[in-house]
Amino acid sequence: MNVLLVGSGGREHALAWKLAQSPSLGKLFAMPGNPGIAEHAKCVDIDPTDHRAVIDFCLKNSVELVVIGPEAPLVDGLGDNLRTMGFSVFGPNRAPAQLEGSKGFTKDLCARHDIPTARYVRATDKLAAETALEEFSLPVVIKADGLAAGKGVIIAATKEEAEAAVADMFSGGFGGAGAEVVIEEFLEGEEVSYFALTDGSAVAPFGSAQDHKRVGDGDTGPNTGGMGAYSPASILTPALREQVMARIIRPTVRALADAGTPYSGVLYAGLMLTADGPKLIEYNARFGDPECQVLMMRYDGDLVALLKAVADGNLANVPPPQFRREAALTVVMAARGYPGTPEKGGTIGGIDGAGSDRVHIFQAGTAQGSDGLVANGGRVLTVTALGRTVAEAQKAAYAAVDAIDFPSGFCRRDIGWREVEREAA
Ligand code: ATP
Repeated sequence: MNVLLVGSGGREHALAWKLAQSPSLGKLFAMPGNPGIAEHAKCVDIDPTDHRAVIDFCLKNSVELVVIGPEAPLVDGLGDNLRTMGFSVFGPNRAPAQLEGSKGFTKDLCARHDIPTARYVRATDKLAAETALEEFSLPVVIKADGLAAGKGVIIAATKEEAEAAVADMFSGGFGGAGAEVVIEEFLEGEEVSYFALTDGSAVAPFGSAQDHKRVGDGDTGPNTGGMGAYSPASILTPALREQVMARIIRPTVRALADAGTPYSGVLYAGLMLTADGPKLIEYNARFGDPECQVLMMRYDGDLVALLKAVADGNLANVPPPQFRREAALTVVMAARGYPGTPEKGGTIGGIDGAGSDRVHIFQAGTAQGSDGLVANGGRVLTVTALGRTVAEAQKAAYAAVDAIDFPSGFCRRDIGWREVEREAA
């Protein structure tokens, strides 16, 4: 079966690596891909926002399955247009992708179906938002409604900060994502990510992970797209996983199906483990980056067949996804300046020697320079290792990081610290 993978990050490199191992794969294409993905797929220089061009490519190359990595093409309706033309697509249509595209949409769905989440108010103008603020104690969370690349959330410790955040969002900040805001109660607890595949009716658990959003060691400094992750997250015990499936994931899948907009793809739930049980912080309509890298290292099966079953509404008829019992951990190597303006063009050496059958260096923002690989983005490499424990995976990942010669890059040195502490206790 010929497969087209849309995207160009570390997440897509991990997907391409796993797709390439599938016995059911014919040819693998990536759009646009990156130099790492090019080791597994033929990279195609077509802009995925040009839906007509994507469809023409799929027709000409007998593509049977399209796997959409990032959120933007999903929210943009690429899935809808491909499905209309008869292609199998892994990734939701535009309407159910609103789970990620609009925080207000998700909060309303939770309220209607009694799905545990933080108490909230939606506001479409500054005065309404300021009035709503009165209903919450501090700290309070203020979110732009639309996609803001992880930068649309402010946790305000004081009333002044909260009012300034509201003013900022309604004065055109956040690239228009703030035409509406959601104000919500601050939840205390530990955050964890949970993944489930669904074809709109059947649901299959696809593992847990914990990521590190802040740029600096000890979870300090500004937020990023993610500086590292590990899987599984033992804090999400089997009993808690069952609660998450029963109270959060399954009701969401059912609600969207009942509304006539079934969700097909991966549901990525960002959860807070509160004293009252797990609560939904947010949904994403795609795999996390870098969580995908650790899930792909642990997934033990034919990914093409699995994603095709999801795309075709056939998930109930394939065996549930199996995972290695081992842990996986990934460390992001970013270019100096990230998450601000990253330095471009920094040289990268030693990748080939750093990897092994248990350590993979997935590429994100890289480009082929005249003398070899160079940095071409904020997050540049994701160094991912397996281990019997998270501590072992961490050791292996950092040994590989140290073998890579990327002088203008940096990484956090404490990825996985919570789990390493738990394992040592
Ligand atoms: P991303 O897609 O990068 O995860 P986002 O912009 O979609 O971010 P959220 O995931 O909703 O936004 O929030 C970002 C972060 O803010 C969360 O990971 C969490 O740490 C914190 N946060 C959000 N809502 C709450 C809440 N109600 N209580 C406590 N912390 C919260």
